[in-house]
Amino acid sequence: MRVRRFGALIGAGIALSLALAACGSDTEKTEATTVLQKAQNEKKLTIGIKFDQPALGLKKPDGTFEGFDVDVAKYIAKEMGVPEDGITFKETTSANRESFIGGGQVDLVVATYSITEGRKEQVTFGGPYYVAHQDTMVNADNNDIKKTADLKGKRLCKAAGSNSFRRITDPPPDGQLDIDGVTLVDAQSYSECVSKLKSGALDAVSTDDLILAGFANQQPGSFKVINDPFTDEKYGVGMKKGDTETCEAVNKAITKMYSDGTAGQYLEKHFAGTGLKLVKTVPEMEGCA
Ligand code: GLU
Repeated sequence: MRVRRFGALIGAGIALSLALAACGSDTEKTEATTVLQKAQNEKKLTIGIKFDQPALGLKKPDGTFEGFDVDVAKYIAKEMGVPEDGITFKETTSANRESFIGGGQVDLVVATYSITEGRKEQVTFGGPYYVAHQDTMVNADNNDIKKTADLKGKRLCKAAGSNSFRRITDPPPDGQLDIDGVTLVDAQSYSECVSKLKSGALDAVSTDDLILAGFANQQPGSFKVINDPFTDEKYGVGMKKGDTETCEAVNKAITKMYSDGTAGQYLEKHFAGTGLKLVKTVPEMEGCA
């Protein structure tokens, strides 16, 4: 009899702890476990953008932000339930995007961030929200770099953490042309690359056509883009590896941004008059798996 009562007591104890465990996981559910849940619960997001790339992600002297990436980030945030004043823009450079995502300093990155095989191992990418193409910019008076292959033997900028130099010097998948004999000159960012180009410390900056167009437009007459595009740079929205729920919400927002005409308006707003052929149809989504 006593044994049976003891057994019942243990049974009740197990039932109670199971109930408590279930309770615990319910409580956790109200805390954000994905970026989408955080957006919906808190109406806030921290988004990494560039601060120094005209027409894409630029911090203005008055502390506000402008550019295609900024507008895309605002649109996606809105679709996830976050108003403009709920967004904190944080500077991400080419070099810190993966660590800022992994460490939770940012929820999303919208910063000329190409989807590459190497990065896919560390980051989940929504999108692409645009497909840029790598091109090469030289000083306006340069006459010996007319096509990408002419970079052989020249001084090329290597922006820390960026993939673009690799497209010139390495083979696929993340490189492309595998050209030998290029001298890489280090810089922290594309704005530093452009200053070094202007001062004569290097011969060329090779990166996404949108980035080059932004700088060329900012300093008219200083530079020329050789117009020899040679890659597809799929601009992804970076987030923590495995956050499929958020990735799918991002893809839905991007698709809507194109179908309602907003993406086309953003492209015109930032790149009209640059000579770039703007593609206003939705890019094929990469998939969130
Ligand atoms: N889209 C290229 C990349 O992600 C170049 C621009 C950048 O580094 O932000 O590497």
